[in-house]
Amino acid sequence: MKHPGPVPEGTPRKRRRFGRAQDNPSTDSYKLKKKLHEPTRCPSCGCIYVDGRWRWPHEEISTLAHKETCPACHRIEDNYPAGVLTMRSPLLSAHRNEVLALVRNVEKAERGEHCQNRIMAIEEPEKGALVVTTTDIHLPQRIGEAMHRAYHGNLETHYDEDSYFVRVEWQREK
Ligand SMILES: [Zn+2]
Repeated sequence: MKHPGPVPEGTPRKRRRFGRAQDNPSTDSYKLKKKLHEPTRCPSCGCIYVDGRWRWPHEEISTLAHKETCPACHRIEDNYPAGVLTMRSPLLSAHRNEVLALVRNVEKAERGEHCQNRIMAIEEPEKGALVVTTTDIHLPQRIGEAMHRAYHGNLETHYDEDSYFVRVEWQREK
């Protein structure tokens, strides 16, 4: 399947043709249509494919393991996020470091458990706005929930019905 190219900044594609990955949100099949051998190791990040899923290795992996770039690393290479979290509030300027620390802490916890769930980029398109792009559809929701717990405001989540994609928006007026 031909990859449609990088997503223009700030305008995630409405429809993506990767099948109904949303039906099984634990499986992001980005660019992996063929069946993988086990174990397979991602040469970029070191995570391994065993028992039908990607995870961090917690045992010695044979050097004979197959090599294949994992979906998360593919997305990072292609700059093709599965999740976009947009945050808007004047407090993002006033509490910038706190917010960034919160975002990174949530990522650290999530990524430690799920090797495919990672932040791709944190951008500041304008004052009082932060956009976090991720390799998966869970992390934007987790960060949004953490922002909501810490700073209240309004949180909205929009899952794409046709593909593995989520858009999360967190806003607070003051
Ligand atoms: Zn990888």
